[in-house]
Amino acid sequence: MHGGRCVNLTLAPCGADVGIIFSVAGAEIEAHWSCVDASKLRTRLAGDGASVSTVEHLMAALAALGVDNALVALDGDEVPALDGSARDFVSAIEEAGVVALPAPRRALRVIKSVRVSDGAGWAELSSADAGLHLDVEIAFPAPVGRQRLALDLTTETFRRELAGARSFGFLRDAERLWREGLALGANLDNTLVFDERAAINPHGLRFADECVRHKMLDVVGDLALAGAPIIGAFRSYRGGHGLNIALLEAAARSGALAPEFDGAGKGSATGVGRSPSP
Ligand SMILES: [Zn+2]
Repeated sequence: MHGGRCVNLTLAPCGADVGIIFSVAGAEIEAHWSCVDASKLRTRLAGDGASVSTVEHLMAALAALGVDNALVALDGDEVPALDGSARDFVSAIEEAGVVALPAPRRALRVIKSVRVSDGAGWAELSSADAGLHLDVEIAFPAPVGRQRLALDLTTETFRRELAGARSFGFLRDAERLWREGLALGANLDNTLVFDERAAINPHGLRFADECVRHKMLDVVGDLALAGAPIIGAFRSYRGGHGLNIALLEAAARSGALAPEFDGAGKGSATGVGRSPSP
């Protein structure tokens, strides 16, 4: 998407309590907000002298399908864009399968409200009885305009409402982004592109409000960098990767996230695919 290079990505099983680990250029980088080193237009993780960009759509698919532990190996420094959505990641993970691991599943419960803001935009987390409730609102100039969507995140709602929503951008921003070394791989096959009047992609929109759905997909991916599923309610207005990551950091630093075992010990940790061969 941003680097404009070809890359191969492999998801592999790993043990319980490992989390999601990116293996790139001989380095292992933990999928955790504390490893985020850039959040403009995409979320980039760094560590061990290496970095991996645009992790959010893959992280969203892993989180929504309930995968707690997996090894993500890449031969480049950016997760492939595919069609700009999380649809192909969902299919690949479902094809590989998800197995329960012999360990209790961890979760992070929001125990007090926390809010961060940046200009007109803000994001907040508050408590909820169970699950993760999402409420996202965006406000762009026409033709995107104001869009708002609220839903309870489940594997099913993610698959049906969010997974297919593509990254979007504006034709008028393209040259400036290219000069900044961003969006170098963006094209009409992986990005919904708007001119002053409408989407210019040959097949148009997948959803009338595809943009807010994609923003929510990004939220799911960024919140997955908490390190465990969050039990709470998320809300944002004119948010983005920077605010999402700042919110996680503020929540962790202010003690707003309390670790617990999901479902009072009933749930099991999960990993992608079959267990490693002996
Ligand atoms: Zn995105």
